Amino acid sequence: MQFIGAARTVTGSQHLLFINGKKILLECGLFQGHRKDTYERNKNFKYNPAEIDLMILSHAHIDHSGNIPNLVKNGYDGPIYTTTATVDLCQIMLRDSAHLQERDIEWVNKKRKKKKQEPMEPLYSLEDVEKAMEQFIGVQYNRRINLLPGVTVTFQDAGHILGSASILLEIEEEDGRKIRLGFTGDIGRPVMPVIRTPDQLRDLDAIIMESTYGNRLHTPSEEVEEELATVVREVYEKKGKIIIPSFAVGRTQLLVYMLHKLFDQNRIPEIPIYVDSPLAVNATNVFRAHPECFDRETYRVFLQNGEDPFGFKRLIYIHTVDESKALNGMNEPMIIISASGMAEGGRILHHLANNVGNPKNLVLFVGYSAENTLARKIMDGEKEVNIFGESYEINCKIKKMDYFSGHADQKELIDYLRLNPKNKLKNIFLVHGEESEALPLKEKLLQSGYSNVIFPASGEKFEI
Ligand SMILES: [Zn+2]
Repeated sequence: MQFIGAARTVTGSQHLLFINGKKILLECGLFQGHRKDTYERNKNFKYNPAEIDLMILSHAHIDHSGNIPNLVKNGYDGPIYTTTATVDLCQIMLRDSAHLQERDIEWVNKKRKKKKQEPMEPLYSLEDVEKAMEQFIGVQYNRRINLLPGVTVTFQDAGHILGSASILLEIEEEDGRKIRLGFTGDIGRPVMPVIRTPDQLRDLDAIIMESTYGNRLHTPSEEVEEELATVVREVYEKKGKIIIPSFAVGRTQLLVYMLHKLFDQNRIPEIPIYVDSPLAVNATNVFRAHPECFDRETYRVFLQNGEDPFGFKRLIYIHTVDESKALNGMNEPMIIISASGMAEGGRILHHLANNVGNPKNLVLFVGYSAENTLARKIMDGEKEVNIFGESYEINCKIKKMDYFSGHADQKELIDYLRLNPKNKLKNIFLVHGEESEALPLKEKLLQSGYSNVIFPASGEKFEI
């Protein structure tokens, strides 16, 4: 195997497997960070896409799926296996990503024109997305599928976002050796509402495992509800606004679900909640279309009573740009949930620009933000930030709540491995984590008796 992306970092997931003379690609995510480095890094593959035999995708988040259209544009014409709900989410998320790429390049090209530089191409277009979508093959959870001679795949529910899967590859090599190789994708949390508890991979010989929160322990969920309710009440009393940069898929639906619950229990006041992201609106519809992926509580509380888990009286989904801009002019207390989660693009930018200067307001971060992103800068307490080329002073309050990110914490990650005998599981590769998270997890795993825990760098190759 060779680790390409999300190696010692959290975005741009890409892992290559070489099995029985064939090349299998796990994930093809976008690398996110500084525009200048990201463009080149995403554009140029470290392998020849035309030589890949098949691809497997764990879930729809852009840091796992976002570079697929570019892969296809560069010659990959094989199948892309994933779950049916992930196919539906990719339909909308990759289109949205193409729009963002096109808009972003327009802006860059305006600047380049002034400097008399050649215009740049977007990473991919809507047409590339459409072509890529034709290569997707949607499968159900827990069905063993024959991929290649001697290789089967089974998708298990990873409990991270709708349709998310951990992947079990059962391999029989040409010399008859058998290997069970697992890839976790992103691992969810057992206590998260809406989607199901992660289904653990078992009896593995080797695992490629995420480590986003390898050095953290999350707050228990009852406390999270109360914390969120307290924040909402405080800002409401000061007549401020709460701005929440949020991934449109997964986190937004969780937040909406929890606010709905708090509102029903009279634990938060009558404050309007705006979900301002066309992608979130579309993604919510995909959620509604896949109730088979919901956990029991969501199914019982809402669906049996004919209620919509993602819609209620105080919640307004914003569709047009004009509606979005109109929010700037309103002075009453409100909650605005908008994408992107790392504040690297999308409508959240104008909401931040408009609101970070006012001490009555609060920016609430509900997920992980990669290094060098705008969200990370604000989160880390920078006093002034650049948005749309202008500088803005930060006077508002800042709060972080990791809980909603949908990633297992250190204890949950270690627990995830519990169905794997330590004398069998001899190769643990930690990916999708920064050093500060993955190395402490590696230590803990070694202490609990696992051997050969590796934190591969990009480009490194291993044989098992
Ligand atoms: Zn994810």
